[in-house]
Amino acid sequence: MADKQVETALKDVMSRMKQASERAGRTQPIRLVAVSKTKPVEALQEAYDAGQRVFGENYVQEMLDKVPALPADIQWHFIGHLQSNKVKAVVEGVPNLSMVETVDSTKLADRLNRAVEQAGRPEPLAVMVQVNTSGEESKYGVEPDGCVDVARHIAKNCPRLRLAGLMTIGQPDYSSRPENFSCLADCRRRVAAELGLPDESLELSMGMSGDFEQAIEMGSTNIRVGSTIFGAREYPAKPKSPSPPPQ
Ligand SMILES: *Cc1c(COP(=O)(O)O)cnc(C)c1O
Repeated sequence: MADKQVETALKDVMSRMKQASERAGRTQPIRLVAVSKTKPVEALQEAYDAGQRVFGENYVQEMLDKVPALPADIQWHFIGHLQSNKVKAVVEGVPNLSMVETVDSTKLADRLNRAVEQAGRPEPLAVMVQVNTSGEESKYGVEPDGCVDVARHIAKNCPRLRLAGLMTIGQPDYSSRPENFSCLADCRRRVAAELGLPDESLELSMGMSGDFEQAIEMGSTNIRVGSTIFGAREYPAKPKSPSPPPQ
């Protein structure tokens, strides 16, 4: 990367995190997940060389392609929609998979639990329950009223999983409003009460490039920042002429 752009941006995000934590009087460290989807391994390596160890990807195949090209002490977070038929591939193909943040059904939890067992992973896999906090139609994430059921199922019936907390994206356009953050905090209170745990024993994964400071001030423990570290995402250009008919 030219001129250490990634390193500079990463350090800037870290100092903004620190200031937001101080403003909010937070004492526990907050985890930064560097969201590297669509970015080449060179960009991830630059962030790694600058000290970053936690990376997030949201497509299984892209993660499987990148993992072998990067150091083994990276802690990978899966943050995309996980299809049932990809569960085995991601659990077996990523030995250093540290967390799946996007569990939104008991069925997916069961699949993950079984895959972790079959892969002979020594440690339980940390997972979060993804909550749809926007009230908008969205394919992914449980409704706030459903979060307790999924969380309880993981805690009681999935011994190879560890319930780490709750996650939200916010609005369907990937921005967030304060209501999204307070809704997730409310879900955490309900889950913690149901399981007889202190609130702080469960994490809140919320806040992205545009709003991570506000998320920290509202209690986030895990922020997921992509474009502010790596630059705008370049998706492959769409063909200009109509695509040829399928062969
Ligand atoms: C892409 C993505 C992010 C990062 O978004 P930025 O706005 O680029 O920081 C965070 N969380 C999820 C689930 C994502 O898919």
